[in-house]
Amino acid sequence: MIYPIVKFGDPVLEKKAEPVTVFDDELEKLVDDMFESMYAAHGVGLAAPQIGISKRLAVIDVTFKEDPDAKLVLVNPEIIHSEGRHSQNEGCLSIPDFRENVTRPRKVTVRAQDVTGKFFEKTGEELLARAFLHETDHLNGKLYMSHLSALKRDLMKRKIRKLMKAGEW
Ligand SMILES: [Zn+2]
Repeated sequence: MIYPIVKFGDPVLEKKAEPVTVFDDELEKLVDDMFESMYAAHGVGLAAPQIGISKRLAVIDVTFKEDPDAKLVLVNPEIIHSEGRHSQNEGCLSIPDFRENVTRPRKVTVRAQDVTGKFFEKTGEELLARAFLHETDHLNGKLYMSHLSALKRDLMKRKIRKLMKAGEW
């Protein structure tokens, strides 16, 4: 099932998501649906709040279907190490048609559970590190615009409000 993506302005995107405690068939189905929804929206990462579900769960595939081994499920993820700095253009499915340069750590280690509840650690660099940080931010109610300068952030919000008023958001 493909879920519609929740857009900026919906309060679910700005609240801290609840930990996942039950690892059952329902969670597995939700993960499958999240991958399907992410691919349908042409994204490389999707957090559960972006489909209106306030749970600490995200899916990532920075290769966009090219490498099946690159499919990652992060349940209750935590960033346990980060180093360096890296700037890159970043977007978000919940803020469509906007992209901004965002500086984040270059190398990041995440600790998370898989869909069965097993803990694992994974280190990513550049795009993968960025995905770990971007999706973990979502679970803490944080959007990438919070990493921009106040000036850029206000400009972005003003443009979005204009689109909202015009019924184009
Ligand atoms: Zn996002």
